[in-house]
Amino acid sequence: MQDSFDRSITYLRVSVTDRCDFRCFYCMPENIEFLPRTDLLSFEELDQVCTRFVERGVTKLRLTGGEPLVRRGILDFIKRFSRHLGTGALKELTLTTNGSQLAKYAFDLKACGINRINVSLDTLDPIKFAEITRRGRINDVLAGLDAAQEAGLKVKINTVALKGLNELELSAMVKWCGERGFDLTLIETMPLGDIGGDRTDHYLNLDTVRTQLERDWTLTPSTHRTGGPARYYEIGETGQRLGLITPLSEHFCDTCNRMRLTCTGTLYMCLGQDRSVNLRDALRADARLTKLNAAMDHALTLKPKGHEFVIAPGRGGPALKRHMSVTGG
Ligand code: SAM
Ligand code: SF4
Repeated sequence: MQDSFDRSITYLRVSVTDRCDFRCFYCMPENIEFLPRTDLLSFEELDQVCTRFVERGVTKLRLTGGEPLVRRGILDFIKRFSRHLGTGALKELTLTTNGSQLAKYAFDLKACGINRINVSLDTLDPIKFAEITRRGRINDVLAGLDAAQEAGLKVKINTVALKGLNELELSAMVKWCGERGFDLTLIETMPLGDIGGDRTDHYLNLDTVRTQLERDWTLTPSTHRTGGPARYYEIGETGQRLGLITPLSEHFCDTCNRMRLTCTGTLYMCLGQDRSVNLRDALRADARLTKLNAAMDHALTLKPKGHEFVIAPGRGGPALKRHMSVTGG
């Protein structure tokens, strides 16, 4: 799949549910109303759409949400869909999770051919963890991480850098990840969806964070690339990798290879753009998939050259209305 700017689109991120057992304050408001279950693509439909993408050249697929592991039946879906790893058409199937259900699922995920996962963890302090996630228990996540390692899953930790919350802890996070053998990616807050407050209160520029980390760690720019918004560094002392995702302070769009499918079957070609294509209606309208294929072709023409996020003091409202949990982080 080639877009209008000659980028090959090979990476699909799929939100399998907007629901979540946490309520991280930067992601969703405490009293969020989730979508009616009937709005979601069924697993059968999800399989059909994702399979069509694989047939058209998607080689990497990430399941996300919401919390992907809270959707009932998710493991059966993954088991079935992993057939594309078996044929070699799909090179990587992976997932981003808050880790709360990992103790239960880690071994099964590995058995399905998932080799690497991203686990979100913003702090190692149990009280701050409860504050940020509003209802998460850090011990569940830590048990999940133990299980993931026992199962042989390679883990990358995602940490949203939050002014006044975890900013003084980030160096300790680098150390802990080094000891555990985890790579770490730090993320800037993005203005997606109303969260019932002002995100700029906690916005932390990662250039400043990097300068601070360089007092404790030797960071060497790495050539590692994923086609996404992260810049990578090798950490001399730990041998692990540090990623910095700075979509707001830096443009990353020239090499973007990804698109996002929401849990309702809407396809966004850019996290920072409102235009989209409704694949659910296209799929339901025509069993021979002609309409689905046409909708996918149309989507490729929508992928913009670059995103249009703005986050600045006093611009605390969301740049885009939809939440990360619907679009998939
Ligand atoms: N529930 C899973 C999790 O937390 O890993 C998967 C979905 S979550 C939306 C994916 C990632 O997006 C998480 O690492 C989360 O911290 C991040 N995220 C959510 N809202 C964000 C925002 N407004 N800005 C930046 N990152 C955000
Ligand atoms: Fe749930 Fe992930 Fe959003 Fe936190 S970041 S509320 S864990 S979807």
